[in-house]
Amino acid sequence: KWCDIEDLLGVVLQQVQDFQQQRKLLVHMPDHIPLIQGDEVLLEQMLVNVVSNAIKYSPDGSEVTIEVHVEADAVIISVRDRGMGLDTADQERIFDKFYRADRTKHVPGTGLGLAICKGIVELHDGTISAEPAPDRGTIITISLPLSDENKSMSMHSEGEMENL
Ligand code: ATP
Ligand code: MG
Repeated sequence: KWCDIEDLLGVVLQQVQDFQQQRKLLVHMPDHIPLIQGDEVLLEQMLVNVVSNAIKYSPDGSEVTIEVHVEADAVIISVRDRGMGLDTADQERIFDKFYRADRTKHVPGTGLGLAICKGIVELHDGTISAEPAPDRGTIITISLPLSDENKSMSMHSEGEMENL
């Protein structure tokens, strides 16, 4: 099924905004995002989870920034917060079932959210990774591949632009 990331993010923001107004949620995305092949309900759940973590592990009043980039063969979504951050030693492990980083242990949780997110992203042949943000906080990056059909479509439109 074809899936519109822009619509998806709209629904995600709506859902997240319903349970919190204390973070500033910022979204940067290009005017045109190619459709991807995927299950919008699962992708929506995955993004709600990642954005909820960004909110949960950052202080009231701080910013959570969602950025979308389109590359030649993938759509990249990154979610950045200004919160507790991440030890590089935990970068991979936070995607394991029940693993919780020491520095966040005072905030309740089960450690399942990201394991589920990883499953959903991999179901879409994509990747998900975590890194400490340069200054403070955490960046979660999700890459979802464009289907061959859509790759040729974006090549086609580039060709058309060259002709102008
Ligand atoms: P839940 O299952 O309720 O989501 P959880 O948030 O603890 O519980 P995950 O979402 O799987 O579980 O996250 C796993 C761990 O990764 C967290 O416990 C936390 O230590 C770390 N983590 C996830 N997102 C962030 C973030 N944005 N900033 C800092 N640490 C994070
Ligand atoms: Mg979580």
